[in-house]
Amino acid sequence: MPSTISNGGGYGPLGLLDSDTTAFTKDVRSYLDKNVAPLIAEAERTKTFPVDILPGLIELGYVRGGLPENDGGYGMSHLQSAVLMEEAGRCWGSLRTTLNILSMVAELLSKHGTDDQKERFLAPLLEGRRRGWFALTEPESGSDAGALRTRATEREDGSWVLNGQKVWITNASYGDFGVVLATVDRSLGHKGIGAFLVETSTPGLEINEIPHMPVRASSSCEVVLTEVVVPAQNLLGQVGRGLSVAMSAVNGGRLNIAAGAVGLMQAALEAAQGHVLAREQFGRPLAGFQLVQELIVKMAVQTQAGRLLYQNAASTLDAGQPGRLECSIAKYFCSEAAVVATSQAIQLFGGSGLMEEFPVERLFRDARESTIPEGTSEIQVLQIGDALLGVSALR
Ligand SMILES: Cc1cc2nc3c(=O)[nH]c(=O)nc-3n(C[C@H](O)[C@H](O)[C@H](O)COP(=O)(O)OP(=O)(O)OC[C@H]3O[C@@H](n4cnc5c(N)ncnc54)[C@H](O)[C@@H]3O)c2cc1C
Repeated sequence: MPSTISNGGGYGPLGLLDSDTTAFTKDVRSYLDKNVAPLIAEAERTKTFPVDILPGLIELGYVRGGLPENDGGYGMSHLQSAVLMEEAGRCWGSLRTTLNILSMVAELLSKHGTDDQKERFLAPLLEGRRRGWFALTEPESGSDAGALRTRATEREDGSWVLNGQKVWITNASYGDFGVVLATVDRSLGHKGIGAFLVETSTPGLEINEIPHMPVRASSSCEVVLTEVVVPAQNLLGQVGRGLSVAMSAVNGGRLNIAAGAVGLMQAALEAAQGHVLAREQFGRPLAGFQLVQELIVKMAVQTQAGRLLYQNAASTLDAGQPGRLECSIAKYFCSEAAVVATSQAIQLFGGSGLMEEFPVERLFRDARESTIPEGTSEIQVLQIGDALLGVSALR
């Protein structure tokens, strides 16, 4: 289907989508505009995510859509799931990040969970009754995830005791359980790491919210684990395979951030188009000035380029290929482009662009997040370089 360029509030470029997906995407956009957009201002002001909207969104196809039908999913393609994430990003950064974490946890449970774990954790998550979080990062271990220090000690009855500290864990304060990465023996490096399903209510587990700049209605949390007992049946996958379990969701996470960043750019573009057509200076609309048009065009070109990159990455996964390089390229380009495009939108708004009553300062803050989680831009560059040259410059 040929692409069309948005005309300021009209439907945006469609990229590589077939007519069914295009129609579905329009329905999803209408749903978000009607049911979610009116909640944003209050949620941002109170820094609280309206969790009641989640069951409806999951029913629509978020979180569950990409899972296989025998796990309660809809069997949607990567492309369809990614397009849904673009729409989430266009609507609201805090929504995109919340859906991303839930999707990641659902994917991990679907790929690695036992039947019992799927019944206790995945099924209620897909009904919107329970919410999960994902805890890998620690104060001393960020990009170098394999260096984590949270310790898992096996007891005689096969249960585990976890001790350690995690930081910047998205929405742990809203969650019922987490996937926690811990090591049984640091000297084994990544071969000593396991993934554990931990109930938030377990004694010894403490969650503290950390104030942060972007995606303000989601929470960013410190999770402290002190002698937290985890039953044997809550080990997700095998000990020694924990990092592989976590990394099995990495393509999906990168794709989600890339698509969400394109959504942010689309929202910034629509806001800027509306503003420059309405605002007059020197006796005519800003839209009539060549320098203003140049900024609008730059934003539109980056948005469309990013859209084609994430849709290409998703299509690569749909073709059964590993897609790691394509997802890294999409995440790198789209997140960096979103920082620039949302800053350009602020420029076009002038002083009002920096005021909270207009949407673009939030879009900029939320775009700024996207270059960091799921592998920073620098880590993406090094992974792309490795794929292109066959030489790793990571260590
Ligand atoms: C909003 C937000 C939400 C998050 N949510 C979660 C979550 O839910 N769960 C979770 O586990 N984690 C989460 N994180 C953590 C995130 O994954 C880490 O912030 C990220 O992996 C980077 O680690 P770091 O912040 O410790 O930076 P560092 O690793 O300390 O990196 C600092 C800088 O050094 C650069 N750098 C590092 N190594 C290299 C290298 N080899 N070569 C060149 N440059 C390098 C980085 O690119 C970066 O610019 C979240 C972070 C944010 C900001």
